[in-house]
Amino acid sequence: MILTLDVERDWERGGTKNLELLPKIFDLLEDHDSRATLFIVSSIAGEVSEIGVPKKFEIASHGKTHIRLDRAEREKVREEIVESKRELEELFKRKVTGFRAPYFVLPKNSYGILKEAGYIYSSSRAFGIFPGRYVNFSTRPEKIGGVWEFPVSGFLIFNFGLSWIRLFWPFSRFFLPSAPQVFYFHPTELLEEAPKLGLIGKFYGRNRGKKAWEILEEIMARYGPTESFAYYLRTYSRSSGFER
Ligand SMILES: [Zn+2]
Repeated sequence: MILTLDVERDWERGGTKNLELLPKIFDLLEDHDSRATLFIVSSIAGEVSEIGVPKKFEIASHGKTHIRLDRAEREKVREEIVESKRELEELFKRKVTGFRAPYFVLPKNSYGILKEAGYIYSSSRAFGIFPGRYVNFSTRPEKIGGVWEFPVSGFLIFNFGLSWIRLFWPFSRFFLPSAPQVFYFHPTELLEEAPKLGLIGKFYGRNRGKKAWEILEEIMARYGPTESFAYYLRTYSRSSGFER
């Protein structure tokens, strides 16, 4: 299984307290001999690079400012895609080849921009239904505009992310997929404090902090050791036909 983290602000317009949890997350992954891909919002990447990201964890882009790309002008979309990659590469001195659109919404005609910018893959789609964002029941990797898209896996009618698993815990435990390809979570979910966001805050506030750690540990025990996208593509690209 490929493990992915979306590294962004605590919540929309929030602080960056969650970044303090990164070393503890890296320790948990090390305990499970696991790799991961970090999709980082480049506007907070300076703080992330100061904390440091061990080499076995891949650096990828989660855009520049975490805006919805389906609502942005094409030039703005290009800026988010191109500049985030440049900023991350400059800061971390590593090649960035992966992209994840904020909120899992990426217009189909943006894949060409990803290709031009030098990305190899994207994980900008997620299985399931999210009102106002997406409806998608395919998790098969497919090549769009010259870039491989690897959707986040699913369970029931939701994406296989810690947020949905937390919301329905412990019920969700019995519906977890047997062989998922891509899992994701936000470090911010491991903060005790819930976002002040009304209804979304309530939804997002259930089983946070200590409980979220326990669930994450259970997921690592069940699905680890996990891989990063970079490692997966390097290792399996030839046998699975994902040419570079
Ligand atoms: Zn995000």
